[in-house]
Amino acid sequence: MSAKNKVEITESDLKSILGNDFLDFEKKVISNVYCGNCDSPYSSTTINYHIFLNDLNDIILEGFCKKCGHPVSRYVEAGEVTKYQERIAKIKKLLKP
Ligand SMILES: [Zn+2]
Repeated sequence: MSAKNKVEITESDLKSILGNDFLDFEKKVISNVYCGNCDSPYSSTTINYHIFLNDLNDIILEGFCKKCGHPVSRYVEAGEVTKYQERIAKIKKLLKP
């Protein structure tokens, strides 16, 4: 995935895309990340993260492991979820200069 093909969004953008699913996202994605540096995979929490949308309208979360500070990232396929699509399209329009 090329870095030029993703745009950064804010957490409030993400909240408006996910709606009520944001709580799930927090639980299942932000608080459940694989860290290659820690012993216990899929149990770390992402801190200081940035949120991106790629060309396929999927969500990418990039941050750091809460335990060790190692860079971690999660990729969430949202591009095929119909209810997210309109909201993502709207946000992307606003992001364009
Ligand atoms: Zn770690």
